[in-house]
Amino acid sequence: MSTVAEADLAALFHPYTNLVKHPETGPMVITRGQGVRVYDEAGKEYIEGLAGLWCTTLGWGEERLAEVAAAQMRELPFYHLFSSKAHTPGVRLAEALKALAPVSDSKVFLACSGSEANDTAIKMIWYRNNALGRPQKKKIISRERAYHGVTVATGSLTGLPVNQRGFDLPIERILHTGCPHYWRYGEKGESEEQFATRRAEELEKLILAEGPDTVAAFFAEPVMGAGGVIVPPKGYFEKIQAVLKKYDVLLVADEVITGFGRTGNMFGCDTFGIRPDMMTVAKALSSGYLPISALIVSGEVFEPIKAQSGEIGSFGHGLTYGGHPVPAAVALETLKIYAERDIVGHVRKVAPVLQDGLRALQQHPLVGEARGLGLIGALELVADKDTKTAFDPKLAVGARVVAKAQAHGVILRAMGDAVAFAPPLVIEADDIRLLLERFRLALDEAHGELV
Ligand code: PLP
Repeated sequence: MSTVAEADLAALFHPYTNLVKHPETGPMVITRGQGVRVYDEAGKEYIEGLAGLWCTTLGWGEERLAEVAAAQMRELPFYHLFSSKAHTPGVRLAEALKALAPVSDSKVFLACSGSEANDTAIKMIWYRNNALGRPQKKKIISRERAYHGVTVATGSLTGLPVNQRGFDLPIERILHTGCPHYWRYGEKGESEEQFATRRAEELEKLILAEGPDTVAAFFAEPVMGAGGVIVPPKGYFEKIQAVLKKYDVLLVADEVITGFGRTGNMFGCDTFGIRPDMMTVAKALSSGYLPISALIVSGEVFEPIKAQSGEIGSFGHGLTYGGHPVPAAVALETLKIYAERDIVGHVRKVAPVLQDGLRALQQHPLVGEARGLGLIGALELVADKDTKTAFDPKLAVGARVVAKAQAHGVILRAMGDAVAFAPPLVIEADDIRLLLERFRLALDEAHGELV
């Protein structure tokens, strides 16, 4: 029989991988996990500094989730929510999310992934504006460096070249406005607030140039994740929301990374005073243990859609596995654990260890900016700290540092030359310190090679 690595090279088409280089490096096969650690085939231990893909909030080995999944598999391993059918975990999860999310008079639509939830949001927005008799109001604005998924429509919302080059994206009716990264895009002498005002003015100009009667919605992650962990400048969302309100443009908050405690509040919307018309969640919803996502829509969004479905005969959208009873039961248990263990309180308690540790690394010659809040952060590596000059992309400095960190027992992720940190939310202060110590070794080694 072949080894897992051999079978991998022969059979598996890897997502988000350089498919030419992959046969040279081979796969990194992870075999098990416990707490904030995962182990590879050789038994080597790693602190998972990105909670997998920003998702395994409760860490590995949470028995309660395994038990609930097994029990639900025995009780009702599948049923759907089409044609007025219902099952208890799906309904109870919708009820729990309705109570938790800051979306008024809401209804909850269940899907399987962040991309599907955001894609569904786009379809609902279009459907609703047809219902309201304004079929021209369909354009959707996202931001450069945003990440909202990889389907044809959400890959278009995503504002990263790698998701669009070669894929014939973006599609029509999707527009992008400027990224709210003050350190990188703020002008000389411009304050953070002035920068936020400039970004809001740019948004307004774009809406006016396109025609407000053609612009339907604005998508935003409260903190941009895959774009490099971009924390918005002071006052940004207040100013943006004022513009959206003025032109009757819906606000969709993509909380796929920020939802359920990551920023030190239950939602990023709470942290930044965002009052969304629609909100999407995934990842931490089940601590990443099973695939599930949700789209939470306000009553105002729901009502015209409801009326239109009556006229057409059905709301013609749904996913076979959307709200599947097993992930729904696991998600419900995850939410219970968050409440019982006061996960938000824990994040607030240990966040300063991560954030102060990252700020301390700002002294390092390779680090241009340390940023973040709660248990999410990034270090931007630069060739020249004073001028903020980036490294030649060919040097792949971010990837190099991440590879070295991996050798020292920390798994992290580089987005260009920004290295992201988003450990499981249950991480304790000592493990955060260890993670940062191991990372520092990697930085020093990379620095030694680059000078
Ligand atoms: N939205 C955000 C903010 C994300 O970070 C991601 C994935 O990383 C998605 C949407 C897409 O989620 P999925 O990969 O589950 O489709």
